[in-house]
Amino acid sequence: MSHRFVAGEELDEAVSAARVCNDQGMLVSLDYLGENVATMADAQRARDAYLEVFERIAAEKLNANVSCKLTQLGLDLSPEFCEGQVLSIVERAAHNENFLRVDMEGSDYTERTIQVVKRVRSHSPAIGTVIQAYLYRSEQDIQDLLAYGCRIRLCKGAYKEPPQVAFPRKEDVDANYVKLMRLLLPSGFYHGIATHDPHMIGATIRCAAEMKICKEDFEFQMLYGVRTDLQRRLVRDGYRVRIYIPYGNDWFPYFMRRLAERPANLAFFARNFFR
Ligand SMILES: Cc1cc2nc3c(=O)[nH]c(=O)nc-3n(C[C@H](O)[C@H](O)[C@H](O)COP(=O)(O)OP(=O)(O)OC[C@H]3O[C@@H](n4cnc5c(N)ncnc54)[C@H](O)[C@@H]3O)c2cc1C
Repeated sequence: MSHRFVAGEELDEAVSAARVCNDQGMLVSLDYLGENVATMADAQRARDAYLEVFERIAAEKLNANVSCKLTQLGLDLSPEFCEGQVLSIVERAAHNENFLRVDMEGSDYTERTIQVVKRVRSHSPAIGTVIQAYLYRSEQDIQDLLAYGCRIRLCKGAYKEPPQVAFPRKEDVDANYVKLMRLLLPSGFYHGIATHDPHMIGATIRCAAEMKICKEDFEFQMLYGVRTDLQRRLVRDGYRVRIYIPYGNDWFPYFMRRLAERPANLAFFARNFFR
């Protein structure tokens, strides 16, 4: 059932999915699934997997970059150890003229993630991160990261957060998304607008036209298996679209987040399961 959202358990399957996206005119970000590892050995294995992904992207001549999560690289175990791991991956990315995007996890990790990204960014421009529009702190974080020249992916946010840190109402999250998108687009850096929401996409297209920002100066990003119709339409209209392709055997938490953010998915999967 998870195959709708996850390319497979092996890198080969992710590479095949990436090839199909590239052939359809879309860019890709490959994510080796995993989070909250328990040991440094597991975190080091994850780092090695990422080094391999960058080599494979180069060997296969894919138009793809890479996304990772810091808790998969040992953030819970030691921020310094994690930072060293990220630095070695980013050095490989830079060597291959590629880019590492650090996903944003639950709000307990926001500050630590931003600190690691800022420190690594001061060594290399081949790293960027993600800002979640549902967090109250995000506008401040964007100002802070832009001062480091950091490229940002803007998303709404996928974790269950308390009202002390995040807007509880969808209308407020959407309004903040538009506000933050309007800060990012004219900033002079290349950012990713990650959403499947036609209202957010429409607002972005209007903002780019109003501010005379070219289609090449930003990209839309969407998840593998979600709104493929919209993905293709944006490509047809000349926009840059990057598809986030997750793979690996630790797919369960990612799959559950995709089910949780859309109750209709749950009904769909339950029906198919019992059939
Ligand atoms: C490329 C990318 C990277 C992301 N990285 C992160 C990250 O690092 N950290 C993080 O917290 N979140 C991340 N997210 C997830 C994001 O925060 C949202 O949870 C998710 O994208 C749904 O929000 P939306 O903007 O699509 O809007 P919504 O208002 O939730 O959805 C708009 C429409 O999109 C479609 N849709 C949305 N989600 C689904 C789904 N699961 N299944 C089927 N249809 C769906 C539906 O048609 C829905 O009506 C990422 C999203 C994308 C696209």
